[in-house]
Parts: sequence; structure tokens; C-alpha cells
Amino acid sequence: MDTAIAGSLPKPAWLAEPEKLWAAWRQEGEELAQAKRDAALIWIKEQEDSGLSTVCDGEQFRIHFVHGILEHIDGIDWNVKTKMGIRADRYVVDVPTVTAPVARKYSIHKAEAGYVRSHTDRKVKCTMPGPMTICDTIADGHYGSRVEMAMAFADILNQEALELEAAGADIVQFDEPAFNAFTEEAAGWGIEALERAKRGLKCKTAVHICYGYGIEANIEWKKSLGDQWRQYEAFFPALNKSSIDQVSLEFANSRVPGELMRLLPDKQVMVGVIDVATNEIETAEEVASRIRAASEFVDPDRIIACTNCGLAPLPRSVAVGKLRALGAGAALAAKSL
Ligand code: ZN
Repeated sequence: MDTAIAGSLPKPAWLAEPEKLWAAWRQEGEELAQAKRDAALIWIKEQEDSGLSTVCDGEQFRIHFVHGILEHIDGIDWNVKTKMGIRADRYVVDVPTVTAPVARKYSIHKAEAGYVRSHTDRKVKCTMPGPMTICDTIADGHYGSRVEMAMAFADILNQEALELEAAGADIVQFDEPAFNAFTEEAAGWGIEALERAKRGLKCKTAVHICYGYGIEANIEWKKSLGDQWRQYEAFFPALNKSSIDQVSLEFANSRVPGELMRLLPDKQVMVGVIDVATNEIETAEEVASRIRAASEFVDPDRIIACTNCGLAPLPRSVAVGKLRALGAGAALAAKSL
């Protein structure tokens, strides 16, 4: 059975302050560059030791999943901060502002992808924020149209994606948590922008959509969503028609009805069988039983056992425990499916 994580893992305490999103780096310059590579190497090994079939860098090279790429792009003024409600006002934050046409200055993640490739024989997944999520995390002081700005970012992501593939990525994943906040737009220009970001790629492509990290603002928001979370219903049919190969869905302690997986008959489904909102570590049997439950809605050969979302905010030991549970649970489930 294929196994992978959504993307992020905790930074070791010597690299950044643990259990905190946006934690500042503890080194700088060449020392920092080496420390990031060392951290990625630890997590490649931990993913391999857990038996995962796909590994990634755990986002050890970036401070945040969106700003990690934006800080290398021209046309963004980091001194012009705009107060903006993001993910449909779930959080209000000061965001940087686009003040000129956006353009990539140089290769951003290519060397990182090459580094992971050179240290594993497993499948390598590289992750980047999707165009809609980028546009929901930055203010527009130039384009005057969110769609137009999304397409401009999609072109930059496409340049990156082609380089990641050339560097050895087997899967390029776009993270689109914003799809849940703007479900109608997601089915329209959101998916159109994804297609633009992946054009020309021959490797597999994935989209990770989710209800966010297990942080306080999200836990509160989730309480307001009712007993059944059916947001995915609005855009899964359009995603199924798209050329994206893999789509994620939270299935561990989530209120997303499993039957929504039936809307993705032509996709591989990254089924979240690890809860990221609790420090409690799943047993292999719990994980296996979630996978067996998911197999009622999606053929087992299309299941990729996965985490609900990133593990970055968790204590390192908990994240390691959850990786082990994911690998052991998938192996257990594979015996009976
Ligand atoms: Zn997520």
C-alpha cells in the first residue's frame, strides 16, 4: 500500500523553536543552509524507517509553506503590510503586498529536491502552495483581479514544478487549503490555475486540501462547521475531471463523510488516517481500521495512506510516533485488503 505524509514535519529544536509555526531560524548564512540539509536528512531517514513508500523534505527548508516561496519572488513588497482576513476571515494577519508583476528571480526549490533525491530510493514528493492559497495569503496592490494574480503565480509555480521534476521529483503536490474557504471559486478558476501550474509535467501531481493545521484558530472554526463537513462536495466532481492525479481528504477523527471519496472515482486518494490535531499517537490497529473503513468508498489500490495535514506544530517525538503508526498501520491493512 502506498504511504505518504501531507508535507510538513517539526523542525528539530536546534534549527528553530519547536511546536511553533513561523518560528525563527536559529542559524544564519551557510551554517543555516547546512542545518536545514541535516534536518531534512533526519526526516528522510525517519520516513524510510517508518516504511513509507513516498518521502519528502518535511518542509525543513522553509519557514512557512506559503512565505517560503514568496520571499524569492519579485513584485512583492514586504514593507507594505496589508491587514487581511484570510481563509474567509478565519485569521486576520498582516500580509505582504503585490505591487508589481510577479516574477521568479531564480530557481527556488530545485536544489532541495535534488538533495532529497540523492538521499533516498523511495518516491520523492515535493510540495508547493497552490495559486489560490498564495492569493489568499498576500494582498493585491497591482493586478486588481484575484484570478489574474492567481494565473501569474501559476506560471511561476509551473517553472518551479518543471525544475522539481527534472531534479527527480516523482510527485509534485500543490497545497490548496484555501479551496475549502472558497468552494465555488475552487471548482472554477482554482482548478484552472492548478492545471496551468502543472502543464507540461509528466510526473504525478497531487493537490492537498484540508481544514488546516491542528492549531487553535482552526479547532474553533471546525466547531462552527456542523456535524458533517461537506465543503469538498462542491469541487470534488471538478477535481475528478481535472488532470491532477492525487487528491487528499481528512479521514482521521474528521467529520468529512467518507462517502465524498466516491466523488473521486478516477483519482488516487490520499486518505488522512493520522490525526494532526492531537498528540495522542495512533496504534497500528487504529490506522489499519481507518484504512479498511476508507476501502468501502475507494478501491484499495487507489488509496494512499496519509496524514490529515502537516505534522509541523507537533512535538518531534509525537511526529516520529505518528510516522511509525502510519507505516505499521498501512502494512497491517494491506494484509487484509
Ligand atoms: Zn493541510
